[in-house]
Amino acid sequence: MNKPADIKHHTVPLWIGGKAVVPAGRTGDVYNPATGEISKKVPLADAKTIDAAVKAAATALPAWRDTPPLRRARVMQKFLQLMQDNQQELARLVTEEHGKTLPDAAGSVQRGIEVIEFACGIPHLLKGEFSENVGTAVDAYTLRQPVGVCAGITPFNFPVMVPMWMFPVAIACGNTFVLKPSEKVPSASVRMAELFKEAGLPDGVFNVVHGDKEAVDAILAHPGIAAVSFVGSTPIAKYIYETCARNGKRVQALGGAKNHAVVLPDADLEFAADALTGAAYGSAGERCMAISAVVAVGAAGDPLVKLLEKRARSIKIGPGEAPGMDMGPLVTAEHRNKVAGFIDKGISEGAKLVVDGRQPPHKEGFFLGTTLFDRVTPQMEVYKNEIFGPVLVVLRADTLEEAVSLVNSNPYANGTAIFTESGGAARRFENEIQVGMVGINVPIPVPVAFYSFGGWKNSLFGDLHVHGVEGVKFYTRTKVVTKRWPHQDTPAPGFHMPTLG
Ligand code: NAD
Repeated sequence: MNKPADIKHHTVPLWIGGKAVVPAGRTGDVYNPATGEISKKVPLADAKTIDAAVKAAATALPAWRDTPPLRRARVMQKFLQLMQDNQQELARLVTEEHGKTLPDAAGSVQRGIEVIEFACGIPHLLKGEFSENVGTAVDAYTLRQPVGVCAGITPFNFPVMVPMWMFPVAIACGNTFVLKPSEKVPSASVRMAELFKEAGLPDGVFNVVHGDKEAVDAILAHPGIAAVSFVGSTPIAKYIYETCARNGKRVQALGGAKNHAVVLPDADLEFAADALTGAAYGSAGERCMAISAVVAVGAAGDPLVKLLEKRARSIKIGPGEAPGMDMGPLVTAEHRNKVAGFIDKGISEGAKLVVDGRQPPHKEGFFLGTTLFDRVTPQMEVYKNEIFGPVLVVLRADTLEEAVSLVNSNPYANGTAIFTESGGAARRFENEIQVGMVGINVPIPVPVAFYSFGGWKNSLFGDLHVHGVEGVKFYTRTKVVTKRWPHQDTPAPGFHMPTLG
């Protein structure tokens, strides 16, 4: 593996077999979204490099799988400490490549760290079931074993947190791992790999490869990979799910979102407007759990839109590392232009433009201001599509039933929230709504690490959600053992279907 000649830009390495490596071949650009300049280069791995990473993971697997869970947990505990010690440095890397504000980045690193805290309890989580005497002198029990070499493919919007939904649980369960983070934000994953090594993780247990479709396709086709976790947009999630299923791999593929907040007339509207403003525009709307559609019920509509307008206009926009900013730039020029295109589209479709974000205060970089649309209808493109930017649309409904039916008709079903003072309305909402994660007066109901994260419908392809108990289930498979130690009184097995009793 040779270093490509680029003396101007630092090249972010891959991490294979416990070492930083820079393969020759294609490269991509990494931007500083606040300035719009290229800050680094990233190698884009080909099938040969993916094979080298899978081989490293396969070589490390037997010893790691047989390492007692308590010892694996001790490595996790040291990793936890190192992640906490380096939380600010990791947050700075996130801000540098993604653009979100430093406090927001630090919060997302913290949510990732909480998954390591969960994974430290792996000896308890791997305990199986045991039944004595299922037949005369016969016992039965389950074993929960790692699945093998696992891969993770992650999006640009949470360079630390989303990879951490996957690899700490997978590795604590005794698997080895190949992570392919988004090529737009490659550095944090490599830093986490260095810290994991420092914590005592054996070489090859955790590997990081960079790349685009070519690298992803090589992962999906590789016979040495047993399970794939994916987080990203819906069309790619569906492709990953179908390809993995065809190739006989276990797969969980989390997709895009259009998250609704239903606001009832009895809600504390000031509180709701504050919550919705952060949920819509925080991280420049580049969150899979961002609220992007408000359904204002009855009399809530006009006053709520006024409150949202006031708050949307007051948001401080600037470079993510500058103190006091609420919102940074978008991740790339291409994405910024796509989001701006949706604002044009909303206007041409007849939505009422309340706040126009197309003239941001900063001319350099990939900035957009906040946009608020009112009187949006379900037929409009600004409603039907995941915009993934600082654009909030308000729809109107006459009743809670109408609001629930609107949310349930949407093909996405990641998160949703209701704002109300009525326990009965909230209970009805949580029962009838067909969405994976529900908030009651909580705008972004991302479950804590010891619960599991995942949507329904087009927001998740597969059966098991990430982290929490479902994460442990995804990264292990069970075996049931039925055991007898014969002695002189034990009857010999016969020819009939054994009933054991
Ligand atoms: P993306 O789908 O473009 O990319 C995700 C990953 O897939 C990246 O690693 C990328 O390199 C790879 N990829 C891209 N195009 C590919 C192709 N044609 N074939 C194979 N692999 C490909 O997503 P993104 O733009 O990085 O992230 C934003 C999306 O992720 C949004 O839709 C957002 O809702 C979603 N997301 C979902 C969740 C969730 O929990 N459901 C969480 C975070 C982000």
